Amino acid sequence: MIITRSIYATRKAIARAKERKEKIGFVPTMGALHEGHLSLVRRAGKECDFVAVSIFVNPAQFGPKEDFKKYPRAFRRDSALLGKEHVDLLFVPSVKEMYDSDFSTYVEETYLGRVLCGLSRPGHFKGVCTVVTKLFNIITPDLAYVGQKDYQQAEIIRRLVQDLNFPVTVRVAPIVREDDGLAISSRNKYLSVYERKQALSLSQALRFAKNMIRTGERSPQKVIRCLRNMIDGSKDAKIDYIKIIDPRTLRDVTRIKGKVAVVLAVYIGKTRLIDNEVMYAR
Ligand code: AMP
Repeated sequence: MIITRSIYATRKAIARAKERKEKIGFVPTMGALHEGHLSLVRRAGKECDFVAVSIFVNPAQFGPKEDFKKYPRAFRRDSALLGKEHVDLLFVPSVKEMYDSDFSTYVEETYLGRVLCGLSRPGHFKGVCTVVTKLFNIITPDLAYVGQKDYQQAEIIRRLVQDLNFPVTVRVAPIVREDDGLAISSRNKYLSVYERKQALSLSQALRFAKNMIRTGERSPQKVIRCLRNMIDGSKDAKIDYIKIIDPRTLRDVTRIKGKVAVVLAVYIGKTRLIDNEVMYAR
C-alpha cells in the first residue's frame, strides 16, 4: 500500500495503474475507520484491480459550530487496518493540499440537498460535493463506493456524477450495524455508556416502522407519530427529523406505497446520529 500526501504523487500512482489497464475503485472517507468503511474497501477489492482510499476530514462540510476540531483522527490505526486489506493507495492530504489559501470554487447540488440534513446542516452538502468533485478529479476512479448509512449523501453523489458527467459508477453499499442494531459510525465514539444504550432507539424505531408497514399501515403520519413516541422515551434524545420519503426525490410521501425510505436524525446528548432503512409496501 502506497501512502501519498500530495496530489502530484497520487496522480502519478494512478497514472501507473492506468498504464497497466487496471480498473480503479475509490473509497472516500474521513478516517476513524470501522467495519462500515472496511465493507466498502472489501467490495472495491472484489470488483476492481486497484483500490484507492482517501482519509480527509473535510473542513468545508462542517458548520462553524460542528465538530471539525474534535472529529476523531486515528491515522496510525487506520493505516494499519487498511494494510490488512487489499488497498493499493491511501491518499491522506492536508487541508492546505486540498484548499489553497485563494480557493474560491464550490460545487453545489440544488435539489436533493435542500431537505433533511441540508436543513439542519447548511452548507454541509456543498462541502461534500466540492470535496468529492476534487477527489474524483484527482483519483479518476472507474467505481466509487459510498455507504447507504449516509442515505442523502449517497443520492446527492449519484446526482452529482450524473449532472456533471463524471465517468464514474457509484456503488451504494448496505449499512453495517453492531450486533445490537446500532449503525456503526465514527461519531459513536462520542457516546457515553448510558447514551450508547439510548442510541439503540434509532434502529429499534426503524424496525418498528418496518413492522407497521409490513402489517399494512399506509399513513406516514401515523408511523412517524409512533416513532416519535418511541424515541422521545429516551431521556437524552432530541429528534432533528423523522421522515418517510420517496427514495429518489427525498421528498415526503403522502401515502406509503411501493418503495419508501424511512430516514431519521436524532441527537443523543450532544451527538447527532443518523440512520435509515428502505422499505417496500405492496
Ligand atoms: P465517513 O468517514 O463518515 O465520511 O464515511 C465514509 C463512507 O463510509 C461514506 O460513504 C459512508 O456512508 C460510509 N459508511 C459510514 N458508516 C457506514 C456504515 N455503518 N455502513 C456502511 N457504510 C458506512
